[in-house]
Amino acid sequence: MFKKILIANRGEIAVRIIRACREMGIQTVAVYSEIDKEALHTQLADEAICIGPAQVKSSYLNMESIINATLVTKAEAIHPGFGFLSENSKFAKMCQQCQITFIGPSAEIIDKMGNKAEARKTMLEVGVPIIPGSKEPITKAEEGLDIAKEIGYPVIIKASAGGGGKGMRIVYDDAEFINNFNMAQNETMNAFNDNEMYIEKYLVNPRHIEFQILADEYGNVIHLGERDCSIQRRHQKLIEESPSVVIDEPLRKKMGEAATLAAHAVKYTNAGTIEFLLDKDKNFYFIEMNTRIQVEHPVSEMVTGIDLIKEQINIAYGNELKVKQKDVIISGYAIECRINAEDPENNFRPSPGRIENLHLPGGNGIRVDSALFCGYNIPPTYDSMLAKLIVYGKNRDEAIKKLRSALGEFVVQGVKTNIDFQYSIINHPKFLEGDVDTHFVQEYIYK
Ligand code: ADP
Repeated sequence: MFKKILIANRGEIAVRIIRACREMGIQTVAVYSEIDKEALHTQLADEAICIGPAQVKSSYLNMESIINATLVTKAEAIHPGFGFLSENSKFAKMCQQCQITFIGPSAEIIDKMGNKAEARKTMLEVGVPIIPGSKEPITKAEEGLDIAKEIGYPVIIKASAGGGGKGMRIVYDDAEFINNFNMAQNETMNAFNDNEMYIEKYLVNPRHIEFQILADEYGNVIHLGERDCSIQRRHQKLIEESPSVVIDEPLRKKMGEAATLAAHAVKYTNAGTIEFLLDKDKNFYFIEMNTRIQVEHPVSEMVTGIDLIKEQINIAYGNELKVKQKDVIISGYAIECRINAEDPENNFRPSPGRIENLHLPGGNGIRVDSALFCGYNIPPTYDSMLAKLIVYGKNRDEAIKKLRSALGEFVVQGVKTNIDFQYSIINHPKFLEGDVDTHFVQEYIYK
């Protein structure tokens, strides 16, 4: 096994990875920006190296600096976590050239699935259902308009390089199309320095259902069932559950097979997620693959008992997957709530600052993944996610009761958080019934 791993990330995911390494007897190296000198990941790792100033491009996105830190500390592998360099094929290639193991798929696979228009093409070729829309990437608004006319409105304009909901626009008729296309393309240029777009039919009130995949270097691919991530605000996930109340065993099998087929199609390795939208008639369509560990991975861990970070490390080391599909048993019910430092009363503006007082909930079936501590100064520079509250019960009803209790107990003073907002979601009758779709928050909680 690896003796030492460098974690090219910060916040709760860096802490999560350090913990997994520690359990595996692997030494850890944290990297931190100047503003993160006191951060928990910096303190918890066996070694810590400053990689630059606070701005991400100078630190957590600074490839040379991170590679240097790895070479200097003689770490054999890099775990990129999520965000930052996790889906950057150039970085994966640099690691390979420096004989450092990148804990994730190869640069080629990242490229193949990272371009969303390309990924749609690949799925079409192998027979994984995709949403009707463009077959090739589009750079001219007029070409997009022709496709929109053909598939019928509403349509969604999306960025090939997209992520985090950026570069997406919903359009309801011809008159709005060109203008919206240009706006989405501008946003895409600004965010990703890329101008390739694609068009999909806009599904009305779908659910977001994704499958967790694990694939080793010997062609073994398994899935760990689904996560229902329909509770979103502005296309960003807020609450994730596993399993989904709308997926029965035959549908799980069918979607799981499509997900493993998708992974096989690109000879995928390591952990990944195949995202689908599910319409009211239970038709499912591929939307994208994420070639990294995801924020919401703990809900799959809770219901399967499989530690995804440890599996990632094992796979990257070249070990064969020990778990076979028949051994994956989904039992109980898990729900995750993302706790963000943001102000729901002020349009969810980030709320950085010092944590003056903190109480994390605990008890049977309660897990908190966070990098918080009392006195911690949340910098304004990074993502506003502070913690993930994950609950596990024997069924959804029990999990919700635990979530209600745990959210009620959760105290973060000094900054504004979305804890009360999350509380209002999980107490809404429609949420309690499990009768939700991706528009639930917008329709019932926050216009
Ligand atoms: P990103 O990578 O930017 O997060 P995704 O393609 O994963 O973008 O889509 C994010 C969310 O946007 C989905 O979970 C869903 O709520 C919404 N969405 C995306 N495509 C469609 C579509 N064709 N129809 C309806 N909703 C969509």
